[in-house]
Amino acid sequence: MVSLRHTLAPAWLSVWQAGRALVPGPAGAFRILLFHDVPPAERPAFAALVRDLHAAGRLISPKQAEDMLSGTNPSRRGPPPCLLSFDDGFASNVQVAQDILDPLDVKALFFLCPGLMDLDGDRQGQAIAANIFDGKRTAGDLRLMSWRQAETLRDKGHVLGAHTRDHLRLTRLDAAGLAEQVGEGARLLAQRLGQVPPWFAFTFGDVNSVDAAALAEISRHHRYCRSGVRGLNSAKTHPLALRADHVELAAPLAWRRMGTEGALDPLYRRQRHQLDQLARMARGEKL
Ligand SMILES: [Zn+2]
Repeated sequence: MVSLRHTLAPAWLSVWQAGRALVPGPAGAFRILLFHDVPPAERPAFAALVRDLHAAGRLISPKQAEDMLSGTNPSRRGPPPCLLSFDDGFASNVQVAQDILDPLDVKALFFLCPGLMDLDGDRQGQAIAANIFDGKRTAGDLRLMSWRQAETLRDKGHVLGAHTRDHLRLTRLDAAGLAEQVGEGARLLAQRLGQVPPWFAFTFGDVNSVDAAALAEISRHHRYCRSGVRGLNSAKTHPLALRADHVELAAPLAWRRMGTEGALDPLYRRQRHQLDQLARMARGEKL
């Protein structure tokens, strides 16, 4: 896979960009970039990405994204702007915000799991391994940010969102489990941070990790639900079916840029369609 990415990504990216130059993206559209833990080894790549997007005037705040979703933001020309988002609430996010985002006055979205933040030391490490990494790897020294750090992010103008109470896969839960993971998660965040966040991101992000029942429960508490399905967002996107582009910071530059430039979008057409159907079912809208 890595060698494929090395050899094919630059060629596909240049073909894609040539096509984009001829056919500009839709007005009023933006991308949400998705990150998790950003370990020290990947920070230079992250910093370079943020610097480039910032220099090109392509970074928007969560508030600006909300305006674009409601169609109140004037449309802009050129490549779509990007909103930065971070899942799981790793402690490294706080460092990255302080060292890389805050000096440029860039505001981002951070999705937290209040039930895991309340665990201490080894118990939190075990829960990260079991729930966030799905048992596929151990947590090592990785830990989540503290409530105090979350409050600091909020006070600096970043936006905190919900990511279930304990990072469980929503499709494995019955109604009581959904109420606990979504409703109780929202309540805990409100208790600590003063309000139920308008933003939610469902765990694992792929279209098979969510269903209409889960989206219905999410919609009872939150206004926006971000997936991990790639694509553009605009006022035409269902607010429960927002797209995001996972950026693999460890991958070669051309592969990373395929995510930010939308070159992988065509591969996710079916997932986007499925997600839109689920969002409409959740709201009882016509399919
Ligand atoms: Zn997650």
